[in-house]
Amino acid sequence: MTRYAAPGTEGALMSYASRYGHFIGGEYVDPVRGGWFENRSPVTGQVFTEGARGTAEDVERALDAAHAAAPAWGRTSAAERSAVLLRIADRTEQHLEALAVAETWENGKPVRETLAADLPLAVDHFRYFAGVLRAQEGSISQLDDDTVAYHFHEPLGVVAQIIPWNFPLLMAAWKLAPALAAGNTVVLKPAEQTPASVHHWLGLVADLLPPGVVNVVNGFGEEAGKPLASSPRVAKIAFTGETSTGRLIMGYAAENLKPVSLELGGKSPNLFFDDIWAVDDDLRDKALEGFAMFALNQGEVCTSPSRALIERGRYGDFLDAAVARTELIAPGHPLDTETMIGAQASEEQLRKILGYLEIGRKEGAKVLTGGERQELDGELAGGYYVQPTVFEGDNRMRIFQEEIFGPVVSVTSFRDFDDAVRIANDTAYGLGAGVWTRDVNTAYRAGRAIQAGRIWQNAYHAYPAHAAFGGVKQSGIGRETHKMMLDHYQWTKNVLVSYSPKKL
Ligand code: NAD
Repeated sequence: MTRYAAPGTEGALMSYASRYGHFIGGEYVDPVRGGWFENRSPVTGQVFTEGARGTAEDVERALDAAHAAAPAWGRTSAAERSAVLLRIADRTEQHLEALAVAETWENGKPVRETLAADLPLAVDHFRYFAGVLRAQEGSISQLDDDTVAYHFHEPLGVVAQIIPWNFPLLMAAWKLAPALAAGNTVVLKPAEQTPASVHHWLGLVADLLPPGVVNVVNGFGEEAGKPLASSPRVAKIAFTGETSTGRLIMGYAAENLKPVSLELGGKSPNLFFDDIWAVDDDLRDKALEGFAMFALNQGEVCTSPSRALIERGRYGDFLDAAVARTELIAPGHPLDTETMIGAQASEEQLRKILGYLEIGRKEGAKVLTGGERQELDGELAGGYYVQPTVFEGDNRMRIFQEEIFGPVVSVTSFRDFDDAVRIANDTAYGLGAGVWTRDVNTAYRAGRAIQAGRIWQNAYHAYPAHAAFGGVKQSGIGRETHKMMLDHYQWTKNVLVSYSPKKL
C-alpha cells in the first residue's frame, strides 16, 4: 500500500496556493469585487485554500478575453489544434500522479480511482478529440451539372461550460476537449465545491494554449453561473449538474435563443436476471462487482446503479452474496492506494445522504448493511464519510425515485422480463442502466426496451471517449463524448454555388 502525503505536507507531490483567482486571458486575476470563499477538503473537513467568488463583472471580463481569442483560434488548422490537444494530453499525463492526489484531496474520492480512472480518462479524452478532429470532413452535394452545395463546419464561437464537483477534471476534459477541437473558445465555471483542481491542472497546461482560448471563472451558481449561462454573448451553454439546475439553465438560454446541452441526474437500474447466478463462474463474480458499483466514487456518479432489480428465482441467493460483496468495500484514508471508498465531496452532500438514510427507514425500507455515517479516527474524524448501504424496499419509495448521490443502493425483485423493464422505466430519469444475463436475446431486448442513454450489458461504469454518453427524460438533452460532439460544438454553413454562365 502507498499512502500519498497530503498536499502541502512533507514529501507531498504538490502543494496548493493559498488562493485561486480566475484564469482569464492567460493569467490569474483577482475577482473584480474582491470576494473569496473557503474551500474545505472533505478528507478532513479542514479549509485548505480559497477560491475567487466570481460575479457578473468577472464573467464579462472572461467573455471579453474569449471573444478576443475566438477569431484566431477558430481559423487555426485542424492539424494545429490537434497538436495542441495532444500536447495538453502529454503534459497532463506527465503530472498524472500529482493531479490525482490534488483531485482526491479536493473531492474526497480514493486516490486509486483518480490514478486509474479520472486522470487517464481525461488524458485520453484530449487524445481522442485530437484524432477525430483530423478526420472530420465537410460534404458536397452536386445539385445539377453546374450547381454545387458545400457544407462547412463552423465553430460556434464562445461557449459557456458549467460543471459539477463529482469529477472535477474529467468533467472539465469532457467539456473542453471537444469544444476546443471544434475551434471554439471557452468560459468554464467549475463547481464551488471544487474550484482548485481545474486551476491546478491549468497551471500546468496554460502555456500550451493561446491566451483567452480557455478562461475559468470560479464562484457560486447564482452569482457566477447564472450571468454566464444567461449572457447573450455565448453561442452555446453546456451544463452538467442537477436536473433542477438544468431547468433554470434552459430558461436562461431560451431568453437569448441559445442551444443548450444538459447532462443531468439519474436513478439508474441495474438488472440481474436469474441465469447470471445459475453458474458459479467469473461472470457471476463480475455481476456481484457490477452490483457493488453503486458505491464507486461514493455513489457520486450521475449513472450510479442506485436501483438494483433482481429476478425472483435466485433473489435471496444473489442478494446475500451482493451484501457480502458490499461489505468488502474498504473505507479508509482517501490517499491510501487500498482505500475503496473515500469521503463525500462536501458536508452538504453528507447531510443530504444521511437525510435519505433516515427517509428510507421511515418509509419502511430494510437496511441490509450500512445505513450510518462512517466514523473514522484521527485527522479523518472531521471528514465526510458514509457507510455503503443496501436498502431493500419498493420502487415507489422515495429512495428508489430520488437521486441520493451517495453510496446507497435500493433493491427490489422482479417477476419476469416485462416486470423488469416496467420497474426499470418507472422513473423520471433515463441516464444509465445495467443488464446482467447470459442470454443474448434477453440482453438485446432489455437493451432496446429500457429508456436510458447508456445501457451496459454484463458491464458497468465504463466511460470510453468513443461511446456516446447522455440521457433521456429528466436526465438531459444532448450527448457528450464520441466524435458526434464536434457537431454539437459547430454549426453547418451551406454555400450554394452556380458555376453556370447562363442568366437566371
Ligand atoms: P448543481 O446543479 O448544483 O451544480 C452544477 C453546477 O451548476 C455548479 O458549477 C454550480 O455552481 C452551477 N449552478 C448552480 N446553480 C446555477 C444557476 N442558477 N445558474 C448557473 N449555474 C448554476 O449540481 P452538483 O450538485 O454540482 O452536481 C451533482 C449533479 O450533477 C447530480 O445531479 C448528478 O447526477 C449530475 N451529474 C450529471 C452527469 C451527467 O453526465 N449526466 C455527470 C456528473 C454529474
